[in-house]
Amino acid sequence: MLFQRLSTRLAVLYAGLFGAGLLLVFLCVFVAISQAAQRQVRTELTATGSVFDHVWALRTERLREGAQLLSRDFGFQQAVATGDETTIVSAMDNLRRRVGVDRAFVLDEAGRPIGAKMAPQDAQRLQAAFSASEQPSGVVMLDDQPYHVTSAPILSPDLLGWVAFGVRLDAEEMRELEQLSAIPLEAAVVHREPTHGWETDASLPRQDQAAVRRFITASLTGGRGSPETLDLSDGRSIALAKPLPSLDGRGQAALLLRYPLDRALAPFRPLFAVVAALSLTGVLVVGFGSLLLARGVTRPVTDLDEAARRLQRGEDAQVEATTDDELGRLAHSFNAMATTIRDRERRITHLALHDEETGLPNRLTLERVVDGLSDRPHGQVYVAALGVRRFDHLRGAIGYALAAQAVRTIGNRLAGLAPSSGVARIATDVLGFTIVAQGPDAAVDDARRLLTELEQPLRMGGGDAIDVSLDLGLAALDASVGAAATIELANVALDQARTGRRKVTFFDAEAYGDPAANLSLMSSLIRALETGGMELHYQPKVDLRARRVTGVEALARWRHPVRGMLSPDLFVPMAEETGHIRNLTEWALRRAIADQKALAGAGFPLDVAVNISGRTLGEPDFADFALAEAAEARGALVFEITETAVIENPELALAMLDRFAAAGIGISIDDFGTGLSSLAYLKRIRGQELKIDRSIVEGVTESQRDALIVRSTIDLAHSLGLKVTAEGVETEACFALLSAMGCDRAQGYLVGRPMPLHELLAYLGQTDAGLRSYA
Ligand code: C2E
Ligand code: CA
Ligand code: CA
Repeated sequence: MLFQRLSTRLAVLYAGLFGAGLLLVFLCVFVAISQAAQRQVRTELTATGSVFDHVWALRTERLREGAQLLSRDFGFQQAVATGDETTIVSAMDNLRRRVGVDRAFVLDEAGRPIGAKMAPQDAQRLQAAFSASEQPSGVVMLDDQPYHVTSAPILSPDLLGWVAFGVRLDAEEMRELEQLSAIPLEAAVVHREPTHGWETDASLPRQDQAAVRRFITASLTGGRGSPETLDLSDGRSIALAKPLPSLDGRGQAALLLRYPLDRALAPFRPLFAVVAALSLTGVLVVGFGSLLLARGVTRPVTDLDEAARRLQRGEDAQVEATTDDELGRLAHSFNAMATTIRDRERRITHLALHDEETGLPNRLTLERVVDGLSDRPHGQVYVAALGVRRFDHLRGAIGYALAAQAVRTIGNRLAGLAPSSGVARIATDVLGFTIVAQGPDAAVDDARRLLTELEQPLRMGGGDAIDVSLDLGLAALDASVGAAATIELANVALDQARTGRRKVTFFDAEAYGDPAANLSLMSSLIRALETGGMELHYQPKVDLRARRVTGVEALARWRHPVRGMLSPDLFVPMAEETGHIRNLTEWALRRAIADQKALAGAGFPLDVAVNISGRTLGEPDFADFALAEAAEARGALVFEITETAVIENPELALAMLDRFAAAGIGISIDDFGTGLSSLAYLKRIRGQELKIDRSIVEGVTESQRDALIVRSTIDLAHSLGLKVTAEGVETEACFALLSAMGCDRAQGYLVGRPMPLHELLAYLGQTDAGLRSYA
């Protein structure tokens, strides 16, 4: 954890390096000092050795003088010669005290001690040594103790014996020697008996004892190049060995001077302590300093590290670039990268929730808005699908970009009118949004109000205005169905509105049916045509000036054995899509011609209008069939066609229409105002009638705009030599207004609903058929 921080690691590294350097210096100082100390110790040891030589020689001289003085004393010689023990003993005691020796004794020429006790073998050895040398002096073992013995012969004039003095080379003696030295050393005498080997200091460790023995042997041999001093492992001391002369040449002895090194180093100890304290302080200071420095240096890195974590969490992650070095540049790059990432993230989120072409929110956004409303009570939330009528034609005329711009403009207008409704583009030409209202009627009212506002002409880029017609499908939000499915249902409702040409419609589950069942529906359609399940009803068209019914429009009705009465809005588009429309049209044409004969026979020679779908108009052999059938007709036949049928396949359609016209069949342009009205085609269709769609007619008394459209359409149609029929006339006000505007014919529930032939006959049989209430 601690070492995860760069600053700590740097600080530890610095302090460690510095500490190691200091340690090295400290070691060098230590080695240098202790080497100097060792050199000094060796010099001192050698000096002390020389001092000892001098002391030894002086003492030997003093002892010899004392011994000679006594040996020459005549009385003493007499006492020895006569064996006067008492005199000898008293003289010896006397002398011993005066000279200050440990032992004083007399040996006769045969080697017997006089007036002194001594082991016989010691006495023998001494006698041998004394007689072998002129001035005998040296180390000898007496009672297993080393003594410095010096003797003088007693001559009178023949040899009577020897006077000898011995100084015990014991600890006390050594202390005196130690005090002579300028340095604090330890002195000891080591000796060897031929039978025993070396006696060394028992306090020395084993390996040192061996080393000391070898060292002394080498010193005694006195060969050139033999070491002057010896380093001992015990207490790290240095030793010097001085060979001591042996009295009898048998035993060998040496003086061992030892100097413990730490005692030599003791004066330097305060120095070491000071150096150590300084080093420690240095390490601490450097450690703390480098921690501060490292923090400073690593601060930008730490900032970057934290910013990177924030970036990971999706938070704002800008760092301040305080320097213009690599770290500063890194901070700049990081900021740029973070900005790019955030922008890209925003763009991705935006793309996920928006439509690329228009920038409007997309279906997903709407789903979220709908989801957010799902806790409202049932029957208060509605999803609306707003469609631009004939959008593909609009797009064909003004281009993709402008068409998309039109959708965007409508979307923005809608968002302005209903700010929190979640306006979204849910299909190329469809905008979805939500309506919160107290029940379906209120929702429809809201929708209609919005439509009126939205159908204001759109100002496009170049300042040109285009008119758009809108349709709207509604679906109530059902929590069990979910947002996505409800949006789908609103879309279906829009399709139903379009095919039913109702501006605003609710989703009709019954009419929608079950898509899977629809396919089988088509096969039963063919059967219905053969078995009489399909009927043809007739809706009267009334001439506004003549005030009488001059024609009827044939409309298919299907009595489905299971589903009951089915609307053409359901099965006609389905038949068009599945290719069965040709059968239906042919059946309707035959049926209409037959019924027209019946009408004529009953005294009603009426124009009969049959709807010919655009798809049928695109099939070349249909004309042959139609013309053959028409030849049988009694009275005027009219084919109702839509402009779009012509626009989709102009060459073929126009050629076919020309053939119909030539055969005396009237052409009626159906559903005018729902599509993209094109004057060019209008002029080329050799028609007699133009039918204004009921979606426009129904608003004529309320909407100024619709009134204007109807009015100008009437004028336009008249100028092209066309009679105008208004569809969907339901009220007397509408009827009156249309009459005033110069409209030629009216069709609608006010005049009469579509009805079976027998009802039509009864209807026509009444006086002033269809005009009773409003004539
Ligand atoms: P369309 O040719 O525009 O037919 C007029 C429709 O308006 C008929 O609907 C009629 O019932 C309805 N209508 C008439 N007056 C009023 C009114 O005052 N108010 C309202 N709200 N509606 C009125 P329908 O019969 O449901 O037919 C729907 C469409 O189905 C027709 O529209 C036509 O395009 C098509 N269609 C009907 N029969 C045939 C047919 O035999 N062959 C072909 N190809 N299409 C047919
Ligand atoms: Ca029609
Ligand atoms: Ca129509």
